[in-house]
Amino acid sequence: MNINNSNTSTGILIRFDDIAPNMNWEMMDKCQELLNYYNLKPVMGVIPNNKDEELLKYPKRENFWKIIQNWISNDWTIAMHGCNHLYDKETHKKDYFNYGGRSEFYGHSYETQLNKIRKGLEVFKKNDIKIETFFAPNHTYDQNTFQALKDSGILKIIDGYGLMPFTINGIKFVPQLFYRFLALPFGIQSTQIHINNWGSEDFKTFKNFIKKNREKIITADFAFSINKINSFYKVLNFSTEKTLKLIRFFRF
Ligand SMILES: [Zn+2]
Repeated sequence: MNINNSNTSTGILIRFDDIAPNMNWEMMDKCQELLNYYNLKPVMGVIPNNKDEELLKYPKRENFWKIIQNWISNDWTIAMHGCNHLYDKETHKKDYFNYGGRSEFYGHSYETQLNKIRKGLEVFKKNDIKIETFFAPNHTYDQNTFQALKDSGILKIIDGYGLMPFTINGIKFVPQLFYRFLALPFGIQSTQIHINNWGSEDFKTFKNFIKKNREKIITADFAFSINKINSFYKVLNFSTEKTLKLIRFFRF
């Protein structure tokens, strides 16, 4: 693994979305076995108080927070993925990353967003889990989201465009670009994995991706520890933003 090599300019963070008591646990077990086999450490986007009807249809596993604790003791990173995972606003592509679609946070007042974040953090605290990292359901943020996160002590987000981590107003971002498994020849970025509707073919694709790219897979700690962006990447982050938005629009 490259994770101790501070000179590396290529790295993939494995980000799982929609982790909650109700989910496709059969698939999660298979992914866990695979990641443990290669000793890889993903970041798990946990919904602290899931109320999303779509997600509640999946089987529930008891001792959810015990499972999370086991992941933590295995050096997996836990991120907060929204609060209830309920969408009650429409962004009309006016969200920070012009992503569009529905939102749990974007469009709400600062107070409402702060309240959602605090309520989510309380659940983690009750279960003895410290949260430093966040990513919003459906990638939708506005300035109030960032301010509320900052005021709650969360300064790391896994989302946005670019080929290297970047900082805006004191919040550090690790970019998340693709829906499919793509390993770019350079840059640091995150995948986005939704296992709930995976079948055996999807798992096979994931397994091959992991096998092929395992040397490039990094931890969240490593991704966020990258501080110096050289001018090459600065220019690249800027000039490729439009292209990357287009790529994401076509759902690669
Ligand atoms: Zn989600």
